[in-house]
Amino acid sequence: MALSGIQIYKLLPQTNCKECGFPTCLAFAMKLAAKQVELSLCPTVSEEAKAQLSEAAAPPVRPLTLKSNGYEVLSGNEVALFRHEKRFFSPTGLFLRVYDDEPVEEIKRKVTAVAAYHVDYVGIDLKWDGIAVQARGGDFVGVITAVRAITHLPLILIAGPEELGNPQITQIKEEKSVLSVKSVDQKLLFAFATADNWQAMVDVAKAHQAALAVQAETLDEMAALTEKVKAAGVEDIVICPAQRGLHGTLTANSTARRMALKQTFRALGYPILNIPGDAPTPEMETIWAAQAIGKYGSFVILDHVAPETAYPLLVLRQNIYTDPQKPIQVQPGLYEINNPGPDDPVLVTTNFSITYFSVKNEVESAGLPAWLLVTESEGMSVLTAWAAGKFDAERIAKDVKRFNVADKVSRKRLVLPGHTAVLSGEVEGELPDWEVKVGPREAVDVPKFMKQALA
Ligand code: SF4
Repeated sequence: MALSGIQIYKLLPQTNCKECGFPTCLAFAMKLAAKQVELSLCPTVSEEAKAQLSEAAAPPVRPLTLKSNGYEVLSGNEVALFRHEKRFFSPTGLFLRVYDDEPVEEIKRKVTAVAAYHVDYVGIDLKWDGIAVQARGGDFVGVITAVRAITHLPLILIAGPEELGNPQITQIKEEKSVLSVKSVDQKLLFAFATADNWQAMVDVAKAHQAALAVQAETLDEMAALTEKVKAAGVEDIVICPAQRGLHGTLTANSTARRMALKQTFRALGYPILNIPGDAPTPEMETIWAAQAIGKYGSFVILDHVAPETAYPLLVLRQNIYTDPQKPIQVQPGLYEINNPGPDDPVLVTTNFSITYFSVKNEVESAGLPAWLLVTESEGMSVLTAWAAGKFDAERIAKDVKRFNVADKVSRKRLVLPGHTAVLSGEVEGELPDWEVKVGPREAVDVPKFMKQALA
């Protein structure tokens, strides 16, 4: 059972030393009870108290990392039911499913497309995360081998204990280390353990040190099954509600996660697997996937590869799994656009990613050379940063000096964003040997301004 804040407080040193970053032990205890901090922040807690607090401190959703040859898909370890309460930590892993009775050329085409797909989104490289191989009476081992010849993305293997226990898999393991239990950087997910086959699935999962996805019709049955699987020695568990479709998935995912986070119900405190690939059409598959990404899906399996559906799903995931209190930002510094020279102007902006990319893309696509000074403004957009005191003359001047901008140009021209025209006089005061100009308010107007006012 979860401990209350007061119960936790009684186990803490009660010295109010503040080393944990909180003013009192009670404040820290309350945060601990809300699963918003780690017990390790208190350096003086006794070993005895640590043992007693382990239940309270353990993550309510058990973490699991699928991995292979350097690729990793994190899951679990969530502490919030809603993103605005804190943040979500483990982005949904997107997996493409192939079947072992599909033509091998078709499998290769799809897997190659997934392995090669990546798209730049405000400086973040968005990609698929893994491949699921499902047995359907074909050459299960042959398809795994074909997939591995193309990519080492993490695998989910969907089959019964007979296929997963096939000696040929052992043979592959020994000869090529494809599924080697000795390969320290590989963690597979096997699916599905059900009420009928769970003991046999536990055996094959243990043989490969794989995680095991458990599937059941109701959450009561699911909880009973996870308890049995855990007691039999597999702790890396994923739950897969048997319900498909929007209503079934939403209800099952939300209830399971609510039980895990609000009731600390350990039997459902695991990452969740959803399979939008079972949808009746590719369009519905995308909608099911979007819902699963938004509502607690840790691993989402799709059957179709198409950039026009992959891109919005990846962007959706990116937006849900960023910290709402920490905007997506780029590194402050001096950036080059179209190989600028010493006579080219220095445009100034903030380090909010979308602001940075808006300016960069407009100037770059216009073919104009420029220096772009991205200032440290805690990831805020221009107006927000200015209003918050994070984009002012002092900071701009400081970054001009910090990034040695004067060493790059002979003609010292600084262009401020139009929204902050009010800063121009102060910037001139801070940088007396610079010519300070006020640019347009919108990035789209920067090329025209450069051609007319900076020629
Ligand atoms: S570090 Fe430990 S002892 Fe010090 S205030 Fe925090 S909880 Fe209390």
